[in-house]
Amino acid sequence: MATILRVTNLTKQYNSFTAVNRISFEVKEGEIVSLLGPNGAGKTTTIQMLLSLVSPTSGDIEVFGKNLKEHREELLAMMNFTAPYSLLPYNLTPREALTVFSLLYGVRNYRERVKSLVDEFDLGELVNKKIGQLSSGEQMRLGVAKAFVNNPKLLLLDEPTASLDPPTARQLRARILNLIRESRGAVLWTSHNMREVETVSDRIIFLSRGRVVADDTPQNLKKRFGQEDLEEIFIIIANEPVRESL
Ligand code: ADP
Repeated sequence: MATILRVTNLTKQYNSFTAVNRISFEVKEGEIVSLLGPNGAGKTTTIQMLLSLVSPTSGDIEVFGKNLKEHREELLAMMNFTAPYSLLPYNLTPREALTVFSLLYGVRNYRERVKSLVDEFDLGELVNKKIGQLSSGEQMRLGVAKAFVNNPKLLLLDEPTASLDPPTARQLRARILNLIRESRGAVLWTSHNMREVETVSDRIIFLSRGRVVADDTPQNLKKRFGQEDLEEIFIIIANEPVRESL
């Protein structure tokens, strides 16, 4: 499997505080990798560096073998993301927002793309409302639809189901997984819902205090920690004193 994302010794320092500390990991074609860790572990900072929103202090990010700093525009065109804090313009309708983002990404057949996303994510009843009038769950669904406008090869999903009720979350997960399978893309996914993590992840990367402390399949992590429950593993890792690798 081709490597889509390779992160090497990535570090972010804010003055003397190291938010992300020499982390290295890979995400391969077709893989869904969860990036987990307690609050303050460095997940958001990592995602922001991957999106080129925050500049790393040191280390490298490669997407499809190309350095992100040197090929920023080309590589960002193959990526997309959604996060609860990335709000879409409140005065637009979902259809308008999806159209604007499709145009920003230079999607050629954008009308068809918007229509298929509206269908895929059940946005039909919402398309004429203003985004500001949508519930947080509806906005989240729209945010995920927006993340697919450019058929991304690398998708960064920061808590994509955080404000959804369980059936809606399950349905949205299934749609994300379908689209990713179709596009042979890869996903880096953050979530605090361990059942969700277990359902979607091929691999889990745990961050703690800015370091990668585990990087393995859910099955191997369960074996290694002698725990059936990922939540227990999360708690053990979060309470561990920092070590290079578990
Ligand atoms: P997470 O997403 O895992 O909760 P973050 O990446 O948001 O963690 O934050 C990691 C650490 O870096 C936290 O201790 C946070 O306070 C710190 N941090 C994040 N952004 C800044 C900033 N702009 N200036 C100083 N410290 C920051």
